Amino acid sequence: MKITFHGAARTVTGSQHLLQINGHRLLLECGLYQGRRQESYERNRNFPFDPATIDAVILSHAHMDHSGNLPHLVKKGYRGPIYTTHATAHLTNIMLLDSGSIHESDAEFINKRRAKRGEARIERGEARIEPLYTVEDAAQVAQYFESSEYDQPFEVVPGVIARLVDAGHILGSAAVVLDIEENGRRTRVWFSGDIGRRDLPLIRDPILPSGADTLIMECTYGDKTHQNPQDSYVELRQVVTKTVARRGKVIIPAFAVGRTQELVYDLHQMIDRREIPRVPVVVDSPLAVNASDIFRAHPECMDQQSLDFLRDDVHHSILGYGLVTYTRSVEQSKALNDIEQPMIIISASGMAESGRILHHLRNNIEDPRNTVLIVSWQAPYTLGRRLADRETKIKIFGEEFTRRAEVVTIGGFSAHAGQPFLAEYAQAVKGQVKRVFLVHGEAGPAQALSEKLAEAGIRQVYYPELHTVVEI
Ligand SMILES: [Zn+2]
Ligand SMILES: [Zn+2]
Repeated sequence: MKITFHGAARTVTGSQHLLQINGHRLLLECGLYQGRRQESYERNRNFPFDPATIDAVILSHAHMDHSGNLPHLVKKGYRGPIYTTHATAHLTNIMLLDSGSIHESDAEFINKRRAKRGEARIERGEARIEPLYTVEDAAQVAQYFESSEYDQPFEVVPGVIARLVDAGHILGSAAVVLDIEENGRRTRVWFSGDIGRRDLPLIRDPILPSGADTLIMECTYGDKTHQNPQDSYVELRQVVTKTVARRGKVIIPAFAVGRTQELVYDLHQMIDRREIPRVPVVVDSPLAVNASDIFRAHPECMDQQSLDFLRDDVHHSILGYGLVTYTRSVEQSKALNDIEQPMIIISASGMAESGRILHHLRNNIEDPRNTVLIVSWQAPYTLGRRLADRETKIKIFGEEFTRRAEVVTIGGFSAHAGQPFLAEYAQAVKGQVKRVFLVHGEAGPAQALSEKLAEAGIRQVYYPELHTVVEI
């Protein structure tokens, strides 16, 4: 068997690992690479293998850095099955359509801007930037999904039996267990996908690996210990109480899938328990609306606590039907500006780089009664990072604003495991695992985690470079 690390190698994004077994080619993930614009464009458009020669794809979860380049894979000739859980298939489908529409408008924006600058070739219609993929391309992916239940073994290619187990990261997320028989030899490869955390709201806890000879695992936060989710609940309550008391609005940039539903779930519980005043909660993002519907459609992914809450007649929806307004149209979104009373607005994008959140920030950032609440990691050079850094001069749509709103950061909402749980994850197969490959993480976290694992007696830990081939 050969494993080639074609993405999320020595970085977080663009997950893509190619396995060659018994003469068959199996692709784990087909993620979008996100980084500097030109480099991303080149990498995402050019696969290091011929997509038409791949026999099967297995997808761990719906996040774009794992699923986001599937439309391009299909466009370039892939025609095989895409194995994943029911909820991930469902969720990935709407996220890809949304992503297609973003790629289309990005390309259009660049082409218009170039034409304005008088680049004649562009005006003649030459060398136009083409979107990486369109909504139409994205719509072609759905027909290839072959979804299955958790823990249900299925044959992927001859000699390879796969099973998807709870990863506890986002709705539908899974680790991929591959039981392989090749030339009379049996081996188990355990691919972690993104590793979640215990006690996250809504979804079940991650399952620890067992019986694995080869472990491929993520290490995003290999150097960090998170606050626990209960502390975040209390901090969120304090932020809302304080802001409402001064008649302000709480503006929260949040990823439309996962974080938004967690926040709504927490706020719903606070309102029910009368821990916060009953102020309007608005989820303003067309994608977040769809994602919430999908959460409701997949109770099979929920943990016992959420199921109990769901069963209670009063709470016919744990994602806040009745208590929360979901705005779909641009008009509804704009109308929020005219409302003077305290409220909570949750909107994408999560790093405040695009989307409706920009309008809400623009309208609310100069009022000292308001709070901008940061609930996830913010990449360098994004507007979200500048807010998190408490900058006072903030540019939005090219216009400068003076930030007077308070900025609060809550660190405990991460959907990724911190160092202690990552170490526990690998240690679960101590004594049996022959090699651990760290992927989906920067050098610092990978180094810190491999030191931690070495201390625990796991020494065969590797941090493969992009396109490294290993033979097992
Ligand atoms: Zn993820
Ligand atoms: Zn990821």
